This record gives sequence, structure tokens and C-alpha cells, in this order.
Amino acid sequence: MTDCLFCKIVSGEVPAKVVRETDRTLAFRDINPQAPTHVLVIPKDHHPNVGELAAADADLLAAVLREAHAVAEGDGVADSGYRVVFNTGSGAGQTVFHVHAHVLGGRGLNWPPG
Ligand code: C5P
Repeated sequence: MTDCLFCKIVSGEVPAKVVRETDRTLAFRDINPQAPTHVLVIPKDHHPNVGELAAADADLLAAVLREAHAVAEGDGVADSGYRVVFNTGSGAGQTVFHVHAHVLGGRGLNWPPG
């Protein structure tokens, strides 16, 4: 999708601090981190949100989740605990409508989230 910010990160048109890449996924550091580890994992293909990704390509959703765990392991937060968040819809805080998993860790995480 030509005017999608995260598609532009996939294409290299917009820079990002990439931490992991596979043939179908990209993981990069959030520019406004909310925790010591705050990485976004996205599919390279454009899907607007996690529900639409699950319906369209469940294998790709599984790949995103595998990468989220690999990011947590790579940052050393897998054992202490981390959170994977898919904000879905503007009412839940989604601002970029290319599905992305937030991987958050490295500090205490309150429940329920705000
Ligand atoms: O869940 P939501 O759609 O709000 O998340 C979008 C995230 O994308 C934000 O955390 C924002 O900081 C991040 N972002 C980024 N790089 C950009 C633009 C936004 O990491 N160039």
C-alpha cells in the first residue's frame, strides 16, 4: 500500500532500527519506546489489523508471534516476562493501520493496561 508508513519501512523508504528480519516479517525498535524493550513486529505484507491478518493468513500471524518471542529472547527479557500487544482500532490506540505486534519488556508491566 503506497501511503502506508510501515510499508515504507519494509521498502526502506522510511528508516527504522531493524532488529530482526525474515522473508515475511520485520522487527524494528519503536521510535517512542514505552519500555526498555519496545519493538514492533510486522508482516511485510499489508494487513490492517490482527483480526484481518488472522483471517487472511494464519501462518503469517504465527510467524509474527514467533518473531515476537525471538525479539524477547534477543533482548534478554523472555525469562523475566514480556508483553505482546496488538492495538486494534483507533479506540484501542491503533494509529498505524498496518498490523504490528508491540513487544514490551525490561520493566514491570501493570495489569490491566491503561
Ligand atoms: O499501536 P499503534 O498503532 O499506536 O502503534 C504505532 C507505533 O508505531 C507507535 O508506538 C509509534 O511510536 C510507532 N512508530 C514507529 N516508527 C514510526 C512511526 C511510528 O516506531 N516511523
